[in-house]
Amino acid sequence: MARVIAVSTNKGGVLKTSISVNLAGVLSKEGKRILIIDTDNQGNVLLSFGRNPDDVDRSIYNILVEGLSAKEAIIKDVYKNIDVLPSNDDMTFFEFDVLTKIKQYPEPFSMLKNKLREVESLYDYIIIDTPPNLGLTQGNVLTTADEILIPFQPENYSMRSLVKILSAINSFKNDHNPSLRVLGVVATLVDLRTILHSEVIQECRRYCYENNVKMLETVIPRAIRYANSVAYEGLPATLTTKNNQLVQAYIDLRNEIH
Ligand code: ADP
Ligand code: MG
Repeated sequence: MARVIAVSTNKGGVLKTSISVNLAGVLSKEGKRILIIDTDNQGNVLLSFGRNPDDVDRSIYNILVEGLSAKEAIIKDVYKNIDVLPSNDDMTFFEFDVLTKIKQYPEPFSMLKNKLREVESLYDYIIIDTPPNLGLTQGNVLTTADEILIPFQPENYSMRSLVKILSAINSFKNDHNPSLRVLGVVATLVDLRTILHSEVIQECRRYCYENNVKMLETVIPRAIRYANSVAYEGLPATLTTKNNQLVQAYIDLRNEIH
């Protein structure tokens, strides 16, 4: 049975998508079978593999709202060992469509989970990329996932926001998915030469330690030069041949969540 890992938080631009696709990249090189599920209407998962999400005619929206099976929308072998259940702009309407016809959707938080049953056994890992907010989509993700990775960008007010998201996840978990586990908080876009970054990360480590939340040793460095692999090669950094500081960070991340 697949291990289902969601990369979630209520913020944008903190590397949710980058972590999802690069972790998939490391796992694919190990020969693991991976499904990446994109649940964000920006459709950035397919973009990370050099494909246009607006070119797909069946997305996660169609399986959740129109009753297609997951198999009908999954794109096989986007890269070796990696299948993708894509998202695109249609997902913008998901919450509105479900909430305005709520009688048609008796289990609004379990829609994704129910759809995945038929494909779970086909994969070693299912990685779910999420939108930058808390709503019906995120609720579906948190009901489906076994584990959640929380990207944390160390800035002035980011501790306050981390405390809130951890508490929101905890309360959701108690009601909807008691076995959900926080796999770890992972610091992203880090420049350790910046005093603010080191201080905030230290504060975060202390908070996590005191509250029994795992904070990963691995940090994902700010590395604009290397992060451009998607733009130049149409692939996540971990699937290009180059080994560099950023790729190594994703390998370390993978080893830490073994
Ligand atoms: P999210 O999914 O949380 O919105 P993304 O993964 O899309 O975040 O990343 C946000 C932006 O940061 C993207 O434009 C991406 O190309 C860029 N980026 C990715 N990795 C790095 C990195 N290591 N250093 C600097 N910028 C990065
Ligand atoms: Mg994203």
